[in-house]
Amino acid sequence: MRPDHVLRSRIRLVVAAGVSISAHVAVAESLHPDPQRLGAAFYGDPPDAAHPWGVHDRNRPQPEVVSTAGAVTIPPPSDAVVLFDGKDLSGWELERPKPGKEWVIHDETMECVPGAGSIRTKEKIGDCQLHIEWAAPSLVKGEGQGRGNSGVFLMGLTEVQILDNFENSSYPDGSAGAVYGVNPPMKNALQPPGEFNSYDIVFRRPIFQDGKQVDPGYLTVFCNGVLIQDHTPLEGGGGHRKRSKPTEFPESGPLKLQNHGNAVRFRNIWYRSLPPRAVEGGTSGALEPQVTSGLRQEIAAALRGDALSLRGGDGLREFYRSLESLVYAPDASMLARSKELSTAYLAVVENTAREEREKHKKAVLEMRRCLSYMVKHGRVDADFPARRKVDALVEEMDWDPKKKQ
Ligand code: MG
Repeated sequence: MRPDHVLRSRIRLVVAAGVSISAHVAVAESLHPDPQRLGAAFYGDPPDAAHPWGVHDRNRPQPEVVSTAGAVTIPPPSDAVVLFDGKDLSGWELERPKPGKEWVIHDETMECVPGAGSIRTKEKIGDCQLHIEWAAPSLVKGEGQGRGNSGVFLMGLTEVQILDNFENSSYPDGSAGAVYGVNPPMKNALQPPGEFNSYDIVFRRPIFQDGKQVDPGYLTVFCNGVLIQDHTPLEGGGGHRKRSKPTEFPESGPLKLQNHGNAVRFRNIWYRSLPPRAVEGGTSGALEPQVTSGLRQEIAAALRGDALSLRGGDGLREFYRSLESLVYAPDASMLARSKELSTAYLAVVENTAREEREKHKKAVLEMRRCLSYMVKHGRVDADFPARRKVDALVEEMDWDPKKKQ
């Protein structure tokens, strides 16, 4: 490396360090330790190597307040499962039933009745997109965690906090929209008590294989349309005062709404199941080479089967399917068949009187486009027999659209 390059690298390092230091200073300046709450750091598990804050530390900066137009009411899409439509609770059960105590419905909302315990769906739900709307009691009572507290427990295990944090602060990792005990919401976008808020949640549970965590699980949450959790790793799912540790979840569990002694109301609750991730056999996203190879073989086999079913006529349908199968996996018989079919078709065109060839123009140009794709991507050799013939035909008939003005 030349000396001036060394100098430039050093300058870059110094600049990078400066940016990182100034970011830390910004965090420190945004702290406003609450003088009424001395000793707030002595509540949950202390900071550790990966977490600069103790669990539930009130010295942590509060989420910035953002005003919105309120709940974003989304009617259930056609593939959603409706959990509460304002009419009945037959799909729900109390977690620990008590005689004479039930959650109630009024004004098409379901309401938590203090003393009745938490409620959960009878249905078990795994990875999902969940929509839920909730309102804290309009009669403001209590403070901190004691005001309008409830919670959305995905699979009954990890809580997206519900809390009336409208002009009421609490420890940030237990504020409304927090992954409780794991991560505070990025913003406080709440409506005043009595008015509805919406949560739109994308939940992915942790995945373990052979006792090892291969995916920590994630929560993404929008509150009244504002992103407040951005693909937040679950870190075990969270909990009260304890630093959570990677934890194996079952495949599904009930959706639980917490009874924390406050008459929080809910409406319009639905979910959509999500497809499996690549790590658990899903086919979306970038996959492991071995999995990809297997899937490509399956796709190619299906296309080969379809090619056989398309036999007949001018042979073009079978030709395209055969060629398509070669996009996914090589196969000697498909290659031979596609050569045979394309050559036979072009022979028919060549034997057609010049003035009647126009009817073949579209098919010939399409064949040229497909063969060009196959050669460009190394699926067939450049000397594929029909290629030279198709080029000659296009030239002879002056069919190349690019040549026209
Ligand atoms: Mg709660």
